[in-house]
Amino acid sequence: MQSTPSLADRLALVRSAVADAVREAGRAESEVTTIVVTKFHPASLVRELAALGVTDVGENRQQEASEKAAELADLDLAWHFIGQLQSKKTRAVLAFASAIHSLDRPSLVTALGNALEPGASVDAFIQLNLTDDPARGGVRPVDLEPLAESVLATDGIRMRGLMAVAPLDSDPRAQFARVRKLGERVQRMAPDATDLSMGMSGDYRAAILEGATHLRIGTAITGNRPVAG
Ligand SMILES: *Cc1c(COP(=O)(O)O)cnc(C)c1O
Repeated sequence: MQSTPSLADRLALVRSAVADAVREAGRAESEVTTIVVTKFHPASLVRELAALGVTDVGENRQQEASEKAAELADLDLAWHFIGQLQSKKTRAVLAFASAIHSLDRPSLVTALGNALEPGASVDAFIQLNLTDDPARGGVRPVDLEPLAESVLATDGIRMRGLMAVAPLDSDPRAQFARVRKLGERVQRMAPDATDLSMGMSGDYRAAILEGATHLRIGTAITGNRPVAG
C-alpha cells in the first residue's frame, strides 16, 4: 500500500533535492533561501510549515496575505510578496512583508518610496519579464537599468537583485543564465544587489545551478493549490 506523502515528506524531499543541487553547483547551502509559496492555502498550512522549520513564505495577493500574516502574527516568519502589485496597495504590503519581489515599473517604485515611513526600509527585487507578453508582469530587459536607477534613488528601498519566472515553453536553465547576466549589469550600479530570486517547483535545480539565492517553491511542497475562490 502506498500512502500519499505528507507535508513533512514533501518538504523533506525538496530540502534534500535543493541540498543536492547546491552541492552539484559547488555552492554553500547558506547562500540559498527556500521561500515556500503558500498562496491560496489557509493560514493553518502556513502554521504547519512553521512547525516544520520553515522561516520564509511567499504570497502573491495582498488581501489574502495581509489576513494570513495577521492571523499568524505570533510566528516568527519572513513574508515575501511575489505577486503583481498595484501602487495603491504598497502600504498594506509593507505592513507585513519583509521583501517585495515584484518591482517592475517606476510608478510603483515611487509609490513604495512614498509609503515607507521615515527611517523604515524594505528589501526589494526588480522583476524581469522574460516573455513578450506585457501582461505577465516584470520589466523588459531593455528597461532594466533605468528602473534600477530609480530604485537606487529611493530612500528605504534596499535593492537585493533580480526576480524572474522562466517562461513555460522555454529551457529554464538558459533563461536563468540570462537573468544571471542581467544581474551583473545591475551589480555594476549596485555592487550589493547580488541576489537572484528564481526557481519554482519545476525548475529550481536549474535555478540553483545558475546562482539563485531565493527559490520560490509552492506545489512541490504544499501539494496542489486549492482552487481560487
Ligand atoms: C505561485 C508562484 C510560485 C510557486 O509556483 P510553484 O510552481 O507552485 O512552485 C513562484 N513564483 C511566483 C511568482 C508565483 O506566483
